[in-house]
Amino acid sequence: MSTPTLPPRFESGEIEARWQKAWDERGIARGPDRPKGPTYSVILPPPNVTGVLTIGHMLGDTVMDILVRHHRMRGDATLWVPGLDHAGLATQVEVRRRLQKQGVRFEELPPEQALHEIELWAEEHEKRIREQTRAGGFSVDWSRYRYTMDAGSVRATREVFVRLHQDGLVYRGERMVNWDPKLRTAISDLEVVHTEEEGALVYLRYPWADGTPGGLEVATVRPETIFGDVAVAVHPEDARYRAWIGREVVVPLTDRKVPIISDPAIDPAFGAGALKVTPRHDLVDHEVFLRHPGLPMLPDILDDSGRLTGPWVPTEYRGLDRDDARAKTLEELDRAGLLIRRQPYRHSVARSERSDAVIEPRLSTQWFVRMPALATPVIDAVRRGEIRIHPTRWERTFFRWMEEIQDWCISRQVLWGHAIPVYHCHACHRELAAVDPPAVCDRCGASDLRPDPDVLDTWFTSWLWPFLALGWPERTPDLDHYYPTSVLVTGRDIMFFWVARMMMAGYYFRNARPFSDVYFTGMIRDEQGRRMSKHLGNSPEPLDLIRERGADALRFALVFPNPTDEDGPFGSAALDGGRNFLTKVWNLVRFSLSFVPAGAHPPAGPPPLSGSSALENRWVLSRYRHAVEEVDRALGEFRPTQAAAALYDFLWHDLADRYVEIAKEALLGRRGEPAQREASATLLFVVERSLRLLHPFVPHVTEELWHALPHPDTLLATVSWPRPDESPSDPAAEVEMEPVLETVRLLRNLRAEEKVPVEAIPKAWVRPSGSEVARVLRAERGTVERLARVKPLELLGERDEVPAGTGRRVAAFGECFLERPVASGATAEALLKEREKLSGLLEKTRARLADPGFRARAPPEVVREAEEKATELAERVRRIDEHLKEDGASSVAP
Ligand SMILES: [Zn+2]
Repeated sequence: MSTPTLPPRFESGEIEARWQKAWDERGIARGPDRPKGPTYSVILPPPNVTGVLTIGHMLGDTVMDILVRHHRMRGDATLWVPGLDHAGLATQVEVRRRLQKQGVRFEELPPEQALHEIELWAEEHEKRIREQTRAGGFSVDWSRYRYTMDAGSVRATREVFVRLHQDGLVYRGERMVNWDPKLRTAISDLEVVHTEEEGALVYLRYPWADGTPGGLEVATVRPETIFGDVAVAVHPEDARYRAWIGREVVVPLTDRKVPIISDPAIDPAFGAGALKVTPRHDLVDHEVFLRHPGLPMLPDILDDSGRLTGPWVPTEYRGLDRDDARAKTLEELDRAGLLIRRQPYRHSVARSERSDAVIEPRLSTQWFVRMPALATPVIDAVRRGEIRIHPTRWERTFFRWMEEIQDWCISRQVLWGHAIPVYHCHACHRELAAVDPPAVCDRCGASDLRPDPDVLDTWFTSWLWPFLALGWPERTPDLDHYYPTSVLVTGRDIMFFWVARMMMAGYYFRNARPFSDVYFTGMIRDEQGRRMSKHLGNSPEPLDLIRERGADALRFALVFPNPTDEDGPFGSAALDGGRNFLTKVWNLVRFSLSFVPAGAHPPAGPPPLSGSSALENRWVLSRYRHAVEEVDRALGEFRPTQAAAALYDFLWHDLADRYVEIAKEALLGRRGEPAQREASATLLFVVERSLRLLHPFVPHVTEELWHALPHPDTLLATVSWPRPDESPSDPAAEVEMEPVLETVRLLRNLRAEEKVPVEAIPKAWVRPSGSEVARVLRAERGTVERLARVKPLELLGERDEVPAGTGRRVAAFGECFLERPVASGATAEALLKEREKLSGLLEKTRARLADPGFRARAPPEVVREAEEKATELAERVRRIDEHLKEDGASSVAP
């Protein structure tokens, strides 16, 4: 029970490492194997092994750690499971890029070596991610660490596929997919980015098949795909073409004849109103094709990497990539007199999020999951509040997507991932889905079984995470105790990739929600409001920030003042703010330590107060109780920023700035021994409990400070969370303290306005608005005098004359007056100068407000701000005029 002294300066580095080690050794984060009582479980969204943790990850991890530590201290059986995601395609892209820099082509490596390169990458990054997580002080249970490629994940992924296959919810089919010709794989709709780009619309002439001169004018942005045309389509109501429906034209540069068909999907206003139909390479064309069963389906004209290929492509075009083929086609069309004109054309282009390649819509055989059936129970569950989304504004986006959900393409033509557990019998063409690779075909007994060459989309493993990470498909105790989990904290950018799919998997495979709440954090921006990205180089490495500023300062800066669910700015201003707050708390505890009597025990509760107790003690205990209630309420509503704000206000303003200042006399023994005892017991209790409240936000520094106070032999991380009812609520004390604090504030403002020299102690007067205020101010006169640095403070009756030569302020509790320093000529000159400046500003602000354009365009809060500013400036000008009048200086007409 020693009370070591604290060094005067707060230095985070050594403190953080020391407490992280202590938490590890005492196993504070270890989830109980056999929990008793309520549980609180969280799965950490497994970061991608593609990279390392970013500031965005740190935000999510901080929010989770706050919730987890809060519940742990409240006595819940708490479990936070960390993990790692292999991020198949994304990781393969990074490794491919790294090899390319070394002059090695990934595609040319033997598969084993390519996989080895990926595993090397994964190892390096995993190590770094673990280091970052530890450095942040995040209390995850490392003993339950999971990886989406570990043996259990392999098993779970295969079981799920086989089960869906048996249930008819996974199928293989030829469908239009988004093909990335650079990475040579199908990707999901969510991995495609659409942007407006400049292109060209070209008008071609398709000659009449019967030799009649002329032909049909057809517009396209992709002339190189004419070799895949099976028809030309027009709108059935288009009067220009109605007579020609059924007639044939020749596909330019070939001798193939195709019919003119009609289809309602054709927009008569686009181009010339006639469109070529290339069903294998365009989604709309494919739909047109499906509505016209008479049309032949031609073979592919593009290969995996986007080069022209196949029997329908003239020999001289085969092997050209899309861009070269386009140039050559246009050249040849022009030569043949079939190119009518080209016009610039701005249109939406789909690109691969991973490789930036232009997506090739392609008819391809892939595996799909039927989603609508899985989505329905989830939509119902969210509607009836079984899973709650925070902030609720994201519900609409969620429902919109869920209600229009498309089948999910889950096969990928990449190396890195879980193999699709399907085997094709070469003898009888049976397709077997099996968790364990079968030795023979279960239909014909042949042993020539070929595994499906594709792997599964990474999300096909991640969507199982809430139960997979707890041991499924084994029936583990963890699964019984900790599923469903409590809350999922993640970024809204993966609402559909991951969150919605986890909900679907939870209801389908576990028949229960995966979590009761989802909390979406904002996307952090830099101080200029830009998204953070590797490309812009504005995304700091969290480890550097931790080294420079400390993990606690970083954590606090991520939570306060910008709300964790908004896309707010983050940078050195926020970090400085976090650091300053921690320094303030550090100094507060150091100050408090000097009043801890030798051999003091840890505070069991607040000191018993009586009617004769000091107002400030009654007041601070009541304020403290509000802070506890507010933190509990805000964390219960998933508003960590409000909780942090309540603590910031209480610790900085109420405790450090007000209480400590007011109680100083008593603490120093100037009001007698009993007063001193009561004050130091109050201070010690409030400071000790506040460190508990603050612990989830800034665990290291609070642990360090708490150990400097009298404390039981344990860790702050494991002591109990303060109960609000431990401390009395005292509304009367709060009401009484109001005029005292307000008088001090107004007199301090007046000091500043009147430019009272720092060392001067002027006289002051208060005219209280009623007898109750008068009583309080009379009782607390000494406090006001000391804090406002005035003497004496006199109370005026209703009819007492206002002293001459005073500055004046009016408040709800009455009026304040402050003796004004004797104005010299120099003062008057300074005042005139200031008046000039202020009225200039006032004029500008008023002109701005008078501009109807400004009022129409500016956001309401900006307009309100300008209005407030105008009022304030006018008031300041008025006050200067009063001064000048009183001082007898020449005044300027307003
Ligand atoms: Zn067979």
